[in-house]
Amino acid sequence: MAKKQFKAESKKLMDMMINSIYTHKDIFLRELISNASDALDKRYYHAFSKGESGTARDDYRINLFIDKENRTLTVSDNGCGMTAQELENNLGTIAKSGSLDFKSGLEKASEVEIIGQFGVGFYSAFMVSDKVSVLSKAQGSDEAYLWESEGVDGYTVKKSEKDEAGTVITLHIKENTENEDYDKYLDQYTLQNIVSKYSDYIRYPIMLDMEKTELKEGSEDEYETVTEATQLNSMVPLWRKNKSEITAEEYNEFYKSKFYDFEDPLKTVHSKTEGQVSYDALLFIPKHPPFDYYTKEFKKGLRLYTNGVVIMDKCEELLPDHFSFVKGLVDSADLTLNISRETLQHDHLLKIIAKNLEKKIKSELEKMLKSDRENYEKFFEAFGLQLKYGLYANYGADKDTLKDLILFTSSLEKKPVTLKEYVSRMPESQKTIYYACGETNDKIDLLPQTDAVKEKGFEVLYCTDDVDEFALKMLYEYEGKNFTNICAGNLDLDSDSEKEEIKKENEENKELLTFLKDSIGNAVSGVRFTNKLKNHPVCLTSEGMMSLEMEKVLASMPGANGAKATVVLEINKNHKIASTLKELYESDKDKAGKYAKILYSQSCLIAGKALDNPAEYCELVCEIM
Ligand code: ADP
Repeated sequence: MAKKQFKAESKKLMDMMINSIYTHKDIFLRELISNASDALDKRYYHAFSKGESGTARDDYRINLFIDKENRTLTVSDNGCGMTAQELENNLGTIAKSGSLDFKSGLEKASEVEIIGQFGVGFYSAFMVSDKVSVLSKAQGSDEAYLWESEGVDGYTVKKSEKDEAGTVITLHIKENTENEDYDKYLDQYTLQNIVSKYSDYIRYPIMLDMEKTELKEGSEDEYETVTEATQLNSMVPLWRKNKSEITAEEYNEFYKSKFYDFEDPLKTVHSKTEGQVSYDALLFIPKHPPFDYYTKEFKKGLRLYTNGVVIMDKCEELLPDHFSFVKGLVDSADLTLNISRETLQHDHLLKIIAKNLEKKIKSELEKMLKSDRENYEKFFEAFGLQLKYGLYANYGADKDTLKDLILFTSSLEKKPVTLKEYVSRMPESQKTIYYACGETNDKIDLLPQTDAVKEKGFEVLYCTDDVDEFALKMLYEYEGKNFTNICAGNLDLDSDSEKEEIKKENEENKELLTFLKDSIGNAVSGVRFTNKLKNHPVCLTSEGMMSLEMEKVLASMPGANGAKATVVLEINKNHKIASTLKELYESDKDKAGKYAKILYSQSCLIAGKALDNPAEYCELVCEIM
């Protein structure tokens, strides 16, 4: 019979599975068992909804069978089974499998990432087998079919025989190699361990005929080997167990297998709540954002169960956007099984659970911030951006929830600090919270204004994400202190006498300053002398609501309307360039005008703003070189 070809992506994935160096090969069994469990669910629901009798849940099971001689391991279920067409569709193409976009992932992701993030399901069988056969009979059908494949070069499907509906998957286990022990997958204790590690909570019995040595009946010293059908799983969902009975490893394995991650979670929160509504929640904060986290493809949500039965895979109503990174599940006996997407939104109990969970997550994060700073900073690196978006979103409706959870790098130790920490160490004389915006911390550090504020003994918060300044503007104040962008006008760092002095200087040179402004043109609204700069000759200062950084962010957005910040060129009164300008204004006006243009361009470069006319700038500089 002619072999059929796998679809391209399936082929790639299959190839990867066959040559896998993945260290957690054991997971193939988890994947097959989980598929079997889904198939049993489907059959159960089908029978249930049609009111068929004689299909008690107790009849459903998953059987493992070892044949050492033929090197086969069989996983069978009496679930819904598959028709010939379904065998083709489901096992011939990976696009059917998993729910994620393999094509894009496959190019970049490493093997570990693929196996971890995507949960490659059925294909993982090829990590341990050189041939896989799937004999299946669909529920309600009279025909059975056999799907077989030895790997990448294709598969066959032919008609076959099978008594009961369901699926029997036979793995021809690979021979041992120098580095890999495959024999263990034919060992009953290994299988027992794998099942108890990964599939303990599966709600159907997973049975294996195990050989045991027992005292012969009636004898005191003679032993015999007996075979006994043994149930390998406890069937108790992890979250229903007592916290004290669960090890960290169990939580981690559960997380990785259920929520497609290849790393342990950063934090696990297991809570049992009784009251107005009773529920168990098992929540995880991942170490890293999933690859699509900051895209619109990402879907937040918790898995929702009632009495251990899944109602919904991602119930988004349970998580606010600012905590959308949380993964996990909620199980409540108070919810009804036939709750639908539409009724969910209005479900009163669900709203209470969601509110409680938000509080719980917040308090867990606060706890981490207080007593486990190192991990909190890791968390913030991964998901801080989301918290800052949350601060800004909905006109700041959630700012009280979030304001104490955000961190900014500070000029003081170049370490992340909270607003609380910042305010608590503000000197008496400091009236406002200073911040500066830029691409990187290093670039902000080099701004002339940063120097000036640090010189006064004040700390500056460094804003390097686009959303930062918008979030601070939304927050408006913290503990009664306003926020001041050090690159915006009127920093007010000077003493009264200094203010007087600079006012005089600007008045006396009014004519010169007007001339300089006119030479530069409409790009600036004015030019003035300043004494806030230490060593730098010039800086660009914005005035009004919009800062230079906001101008940049807005310009990069789709549908940008070219909104511009109003800027002033400030010249360091104590810098040599100030006196040079004054002299030139008297002796060579033309040159003074060119200098003004050069200085304006320099201030743009320092502020990280693109030059309006780079060619002219280069020409002017060459001219004086
Ligand atoms: P996933 O389970 O993520 O969808 P798999 O590659 O593991 O991906 O499986 C592909 C599909 O094959 C499943 O969605 C299911 O429809 C079908 N399937 C796999 N195993 C079984 C089984 N034991 N019984 C019935 N259908 C199955």
